[in-house]
Parts: sequence; structure tokens; C-alpha cells
Amino acid sequence: MASRISRTLVAMVATAGATLGVTLANPSPASAAMTICYNTSQAPSYASIANQAATIWNNATSNLTLTANCGTNLRIYQITGGGSYAVRTSLGNGRVYIDTQQAAQYSPLRIMTHEIGHILGLPDNYNGDCALLMSGGSAGTGCTNPYPSTAEANRVTSLFAGTLSATERGTDSSGATVFRDSWPAALAPVG
Ligand SMILES: [Zn+2]
Repeated sequence: MASRISRTLVAMVATAGATLGVTLANPSPASAAMTICYNTSQAPSYASIANQAATIWNNATSNLTLTANCGTNLRIYQITGGGSYAVRTSLGNGRVYIDTQQAAQYSPLRIMTHEIGHILGLPDNYNGDCALLMSGGSAGTGCTNPYPSTAEANRVTSLFAGTLSATERGTDSSGATVFRDSWPAALAPVG
């Protein structure tokens, strides 16, 4: 009798342990970290800036790892004139174009983290607030803040976690979208 109970208990504990083990070993896909591979081969002047921007986003979010040159989720290009912009093909995928002329007026790191922000699902917000990353050039050439606000970073985390309803997501994470004109042409310096 006693041995049967202990065998039963052992079996129950083993079952509970196995269930727990499965739960811990297989987190739901929604909470798994996602690797976004970016490629800077077409933006040699901004490879270091891209690495800094990736570190900023990795630190600001809890479920993303932007990694250099492991693939091509995100291709980064440098162009001359026409304005910096981003083309998001889907959440976490697309292309970023850095205008070398704009990067000589605005903080190149702020431009890079902002444009990557579009790839990560964020829209523009031209309210002139330098504390926001997605205010872009509306905050002026003097604004060099390259960090997303807590709200901006948390929104990216939520988008990748898949925890937002369709209404909450809006169009931020769906479909192909082009984000242009984030960095208005600055007036040429006098003299
Ligand atoms: Zn923008």
C-alpha cells in the first residue's frame, strides 16, 4: 500500500515536472525574441552609426535583437539628396535610405534610429518634441536625441509581442508602407 502511494506520488511529481518543463522550454512564439538582421554593405559611411542604432533599439526593447550582417531583413543604403526615408515591407522588414546631405545637417544617429523605428512599426509624429524619436526633423537640426521615448519603445515591444488588438495596431505593423519627408530641408547657413 505504502509503496503504491509513493509510486503514484513519484508519477504525479514527474508529470508535473514534465508539464512545467515543457512550459519553460517552449515559450509561446509571441514572447520569443526576434532577430532582425540588418545589412550595411550599401551604406559604408554609416555602418558604425547603424550598429549604434541597433544597440539603442536592442536596449530599449525586450524582445528584439538587431544583428549586423547575418541576413537581410533590413537593408540600409546611403543616398545623396532626395531625403532620408524608410520602406517597410512588413513588420521588421524593409529598407532604410540615409541621405548624406541630410545627415550633414541633422544628427545621423537620430536619423538612423528614427528610420529603423519605421521598420519596427512606428509612424511619424511631427510634434517637434525632441524627447520623441519619431518627431524626426520637426524637432530641428539642434535635436540630436537618438533614443526612443519609453512609450515609443514599449509600442515596438508590444507590436512584436503580438499583444495588441487590430484596433490598437492600426496600420502600424501591416502592409508595405513608405515613410518620407521626416527631415525637412534645413535653411542653408547664412554667410
Ligand atoms: Zn519618419
